[in-house]
Amino acid sequence: MMVSMLRFPKRSYVGWGSIGELFQVLRGWGQRNVLVVTDPTLVKIGLVEEFLSPVNHDFQITVYTDVEPEPSLECAERLVAFTRAGSFGCVVGLGGGSALDMAKLAAVIPQNKGNIADYLNLTGTMKLEKEGVPKILIPTTSGTGSEVTDIAVLSLKGTKDVITHDYLLADVAIVDPQLTLSVPKRVTAATGIDALTHAVEAFLSVNASEATDALALRAVELIGGSLKTAVENGKDAEARKAMSTGSYLAGLAFFNAGVAGVHALAYPLGSQFKLPHGESNAVLLPYVMKTISANCREKMNTICRILADGVKQVDDWNAEDYLRLFYYFVKDVGLPTTLKEYGIIESKLTDLTNDAIKQKRLLARSPKPLGENEIHQIYQMAYSGLQ
Ligand code: NAD
Repeated sequence: MMVSMLRFPKRSYVGWGSIGELFQVLRGWGQRNVLVVTDPTLVKIGLVEEFLSPVNHDFQITVYTDVEPEPSLECAERLVAFTRAGSFGCVVGLGGGSALDMAKLAAVIPQNKGNIADYLNLTGTMKLEKEGVPKILIPTTSGTGSEVTDIAVLSLKGTKDVITHDYLLADVAIVDPQLTLSVPKRVTAATGIDALTHAVEAFLSVNASEATDALALRAVELIGGSLKTAVENGKDAEARKAMSTGSYLAGLAFFNAGVAGVHALAYPLGSQFKLPHGESNAVLLPYVMKTISANCREKMNTICRILADGVKQVDDWNAEDYLRLFYYFVKDVGLPTTLKEYGIIESKLTDLTNDAIKQKRLLARSPKPLGENEIHQIYQMAYSGLQ
């Protein structure tokens, strides 16, 4: 039997009201000087005030909001410079994946030599030596799973890159669906498809294990059964709860089994055309699934039986059927299903291919090897859409 190694954050609180644990965790650490990394929208809509006010009196809280969606290297460098100038005892990340990824870097990089670029996966040359200060990660979207991974994603010219290290793992993750009630429709849809993609790619990954399969399949069930409702009625507490747990489980699954082709091809769309991360996954998911399906039919059928709830003939499906299932799942939550809809012109597909091929770490987990030709074909399908 293959040995699988599984990693999780040290502690998670998951469920409605779990934000109430924040105070006790901070008190237990005995650190008074707390840096909160969030984004300007969350301050503007009152979410930061609403959920941090119970801890405001007992701790010295500094709220840092210079976090852009899909943060750039420069955005991260500004945060690290700010953090180095202070003396924070711990970091709280409160927000979507963008704020959580920045919080991880704020907790770890300032204690180490060099700068962010020195630790990038594709081009960095240095290894993190110090663990940094403790961190609590609190997602306000149900999507990235960043609260349970050791990854921080940065937008660079042309593509995205990551910093990964055990030190970036949360000491505590607090996953409270209450914090997602205010997420707008389109962000709910995009982040929800991101979470679904994590679960699906982890399940189909060449590194999948029985444990990650269990996490991934439950995530597919929860997300498949609730995303449309969460998009249509953001205040539906049951749908938000299911999405929140689904996203958390999908995060655990993909952190341990990896994501693959969809993410590898999505990164250049995020960097070159500024598509939000979830949308760049959504617009590729149907076409990647069609392309890889011949190499993972049994597992693909398992996923499709869950997503195509009630459709009996899944065992006879072919690549075109898988394509349609994912295509309509994405379309039904109101997201674009072609690159054309984003104004991307056909002549750009070669540039996209050239950048996607560099994501060897991700492509290595695909059940079907994806070389230059396959990648270009997938972008071509995503450009044209369903014929
Ligand atoms: P995001 O964090 O960029 O947020 C998107 C928008 O939603 C922002 O404008 C934000 O203000 C708003 N928002 C967030 N929560 C809200 C709430 N409760 N109410 C109202 N508005 C809210 O989006 P995201 O998809 O969560 O994160 C994307 C980033 O995460 C990308 O940089 C991506 O590459 C990265 N990512 C990281 C990992 C990881 O494991 N570290 C995994 C996947 C993606």
